[in-house]
Amino acid sequence: MNATYNDLKEKVILITGASRGIGKQIAKSLASQGAHIVFNYRSNEAAALELKEELLKDGASHVSALSFDVTDYEKMKSEIDAFSKEHTISGLINNAGISKDQLAMKVKPSDIDDILNVNLKGAMNLTNILSRSFLRAKDVSIINISSVVGLMGNLSQTTYAASKAGMIGYSKSLAKELASRKVRVNVICPGFIQTQMTDELSDKVKEEYQKLIPLGDFGATEDVANLCSFLMSGASKYITGEVIKVDGGLYI
Ligand code: NDP
Repeated sequence: MNATYNDLKEKVILITGASRGIGKQIAKSLASQGAHIVFNYRSNEAAALELKEELLKDGASHVSALSFDVTDYEKMKSEIDAFSKEHTISGLINNAGISKDQLAMKVKPSDIDDILNVNLKGAMNLTNILSRSFLRAKDVSIINISSVVGLMGNLSQTTYAASKAGMIGYSKSLAKELASRKVRVNVICPGFIQTQMTDELSDKVKEEYQKLIPLGDFGATEDVANLCSFLMSGASKYITGEVIKVDGGLYI
């Protein structure tokens, strides 16, 4: 079931990591409600063009593809600055993320750099780059995709959990900084959502998780996308600084 909000037609929304999984579904759901979708891609231009076509078919009013990696500050800034000369971004969804699961004793310093650079610093840098223009835009909504693991911790995910917990502190602080300008900042913490990232887990781990989920099943990407639509829309205009779980009750 898809939620629909008419005011999304007026929004220009940037989604990172839309090539697959949760990010792709968020882009498709917002496209189907007539938003102007902006997404980034790292190197695969052909795949980006395909995604552009798909989102236009879904109903997007416009689709723009920007070429940057969230860990490359200078390239990201120049792409955003060039785009912002023509358009005013009024929605941002920091979704790009990676995980490299490993017991703490085996984690290498380079793994810590890689995970923090994408999940935390990438999202912070992109948001900070956009924050000046957000002060001039109308009804801005920022959503940071964290994880339930950032709230409850998890074996073999010390670095990933730290990056996702960091996003929560960043978002709450930014929500306070920008509230007087009606810029809202919220966090979504998905639980176990079926995507390529979770397909990589062993069957044993998946079975163990399933037993822990009160609603009894893994989530679908649509479950996260529906909440994004709500938080992007005016229907949530009095909600900021919130951390909302989409986890089937995994962390009650
Ligand atoms: P996927 O691995 O399926 O997709 C990750 C996306 O992030 C891809 O589009 C990838 O692009 C992009 N990405 C990775 N690194 C970079 C980078 N350096 N610069 C720009 N883009 C990058 O992940 P999911 O859809 O499963 O997860 C999406 C988000 O949700 C992540 O932040 C994840 O931590 C979070 N999450 C997911 C859960 C789940 O159960 N699936 C649970 C809780 C949170 P590319 O195609 O170029 O690699």
